[in-house]
Amino acid sequence: MDNYKSNIFELTKKQVFFFDLDGTIYLGKKLFKGVPELITSLKKNDKYFFFLSNNSSLSTSDYLKKLNAFNLNITRNHLILSQHPTLDYLKKNRFRKLFLMGTQSLKKEFEREGFKLTEDDPEIIVLAFDKELTYERLAKVTQFLLKKDFPYIATHLDNRCPTEKGYIPDAGGIAALLHKAVERMPRVFGKPDKEMLLFKLNELEISTKDAVIFGDRLYTDIKMGKNAGVSTCLCLSGESTLDMIKNGEYKPDFIINGIWELLNEFNKI
Ligand SMILES: [Mg+2]
Repeated sequence: MDNYKSNIFELTKKQVFFFDLDGTIYLGKKLFKGVPELITSLKKNDKYFFFLSNNSSLSTSDYLKKLNAFNLNITRNHLILSQHPTLDYLKKNRFRKLFLMGTQSLKKEFEREGFKLTEDDPEIIVLAFDKELTYERLAKVTQFLLKKDFPYIATHLDNRCPTEKGYIPDAGGIAALLHKAVERMPRVFGKPDKEMLLFKLNELEISTKDAVIFGDRLYTDIKMGKNAGVSTCLCLSGESTLDMIKNGEYKPDFIINGIWELLNEFNKI
C-alpha cells in the first residue's frame, strides 16, 4: 500500500457516505465485522449514508429484507439500486411494455411500478442480472435485437458477481454473449454512471467535496466516485487486489482492508 493513503481518519469528517454492498458490506450471506456498529456510529454522528448495488437479481424489497435480517435497521431511503435509475428512464420516456430479462423477484418490482411485461410485443428490451436465464429467452430476445435501432437498455454491466463460492457471470457476461449474436450493446444505468451519486447529493444539497464512496471494484465503484468528484476508498475485502490497483486505470484516494477500519476511526472521535 506504499503510495496510497490508508489513514482514513479524515474521512470521518465527510457528511455523506456511499457504500457498495457485495464485497464491501457483505460477501453473499456473510456480513463483514463491525457493520452494525458502524451504522450506529454514522447515525450517532448525524451522517447521511446510502447502500449502492448494481445487483438487480434482487428487488428493492429483497434488499431491505436481506439487510434488516442482519439487524441493520435501515429503510428504503438508504438504498440506491441499479433498477432505480432504469425505472426512472422508462417512466420519463413513456415505455409501457417491456421484455425484462430478469428474475421473478425483479419482474414483480417492475410490475408494481406499472409496467406490462411481455416476450411477444415489447417496446424495449431491459437486461438485468437474470439468474433464471434460459436459452429460450436468449433466442427470443435475439429476434428483437436484430431489428435495427430496437431500444435496448441494461440496469448495469458488471462482468461477474462475487459469491461465497466464487464468481458467477453477471449482466455484463450475458450482454457479451448477446453481443456475439447481435453486435450491439445496451445503454447502461447503474454504476459507474456518476448520476447514481449526483442525484442524491443534489437532493440533499450537499457538495461532492463532503462525500465519499467505499467499494471493492475499480471499474465501477472507484470509477464512478472519480467521475462524480467524490473521495474514493477501495476495500480489499472483495474483487480487487493491490496488483489490480497498480496496473489499473482507476486509482482510489484511499485503500483499506475492509469497512471495519472505518469503524475504528469513528471510535476515535
Ligand atoms: Mg462490490
